[in-house]
Amino acid sequence: MKLSSIYSDKNSRLKISFEVFPPKDKNNYKKLYEELSVLKHFKPEFVSLTWGAGGNDNNSTELIKNIIALGLNVMPHFTCVCSSKDFVKEHIKYLEEYNIQNILALRGDIPENRINCCGDFKYANGLVRFIKSISDLSIGVAGYPEGHIEANSLDEDIKNLKRKVDSGADAIFTQLFFDNDLYFKYVDKVHKADINVPVIPGIMPILSIKQIEKMTNLARITIPEYLADKLDKYKNSNDDIQKFGIEFGINQCKNLLSEGVTGLHFFTLNKSNSTKEILENL
Ligand code: FAD
Repeated sequence: MKLSSIYSDKNSRLKISFEVFPPKDKNNYKKLYEELSVLKHFKPEFVSLTWGAGGNDNNSTELIKNIIALGLNVMPHFTCVCSSKDFVKEHIKYLEEYNIQNILALRGDIPENRINCCGDFKYANGLVRFIKSISDLSIGVAGYPEGHIEANSLDEDIKNLKRKVDSGADAIFTQLFFDNDLYFKYVDKVHKADINVPVIPGIMPILSIKQIEKMTNLARITIPEYLADKLDKYKNSNDDIQKFGIEFGINQCKNLLSEGVTGLHFFTLNKSNSTKEILENL
């Protein structure tokens, strides 16, 4: 089903999706399929598969084929930062051959070393417009409740988000966040900016301190005081961090659902356990 239909479907079922990334080592593909087989029981609308910035697809075409063979729909990501229009056309043709209905259109992070990186697109909105002009794919885009790291302000970032939606995007998938109030305020601002597509919250189960440090170094993500204290308390035990992460995730999702959220997009980090525990307790 297309994004445009999934989130406008008025049945009361929670719309769940799972994000995974292509393992660097092909030997880990089997493990990924096993984790997805566990998550399949939650009847996700789709599995989204990340794409390396700089045109590095890391064999995602093989993964797409195999995830479909598991009986799951796939929403591939695509970053345009170093891509030509011809390359995008070729890739979209491939996706259509596999009856893919949705794509997450991104600019991607600009590589430090720009040699071998001269793409036809400056920002994601150009990619959205181009995909719309050559295909019937339904298009998702990224949104940042705390503002994208390069943006001078959240308002400026939301103006740019509007360009993506006006170019044809059907849904917004957010960066992860740990403070739901920031998400609610963001959705408010997005609606006030006359952006009228669903804003699906991105949920990342807390698996380790290292993971949190990595994410908060890469993006603007606030760690509320309560969370910082707990992470500090459990910092010497990965088991305790994971247990706490599940409890935190359950409370975070319950609160989102109580405020009327109808879709959750989980950044699984290719591990099923915490996401499964969270979903079983909603
Ligand atoms: P854009 O929407 O193009 O925005 C980039 C910056 O430019 C923003 O600061 C924006 O405000 C500004 N901007 C946009 N348009 C204009 C304009 N017309 N004029 C001036 N400024 C403008 N990265 C990957 O490499 N692979 C992935 O698979 C991947 N998946 C992701 C999934 C989700 C749900 C999210 C939230 C992020 C994902 N990312 C991924 C990260 C993303 O690629 C980076 O955050 C990247 O830096 C920005 O991509 P974008 O599509 O949001 O860019």
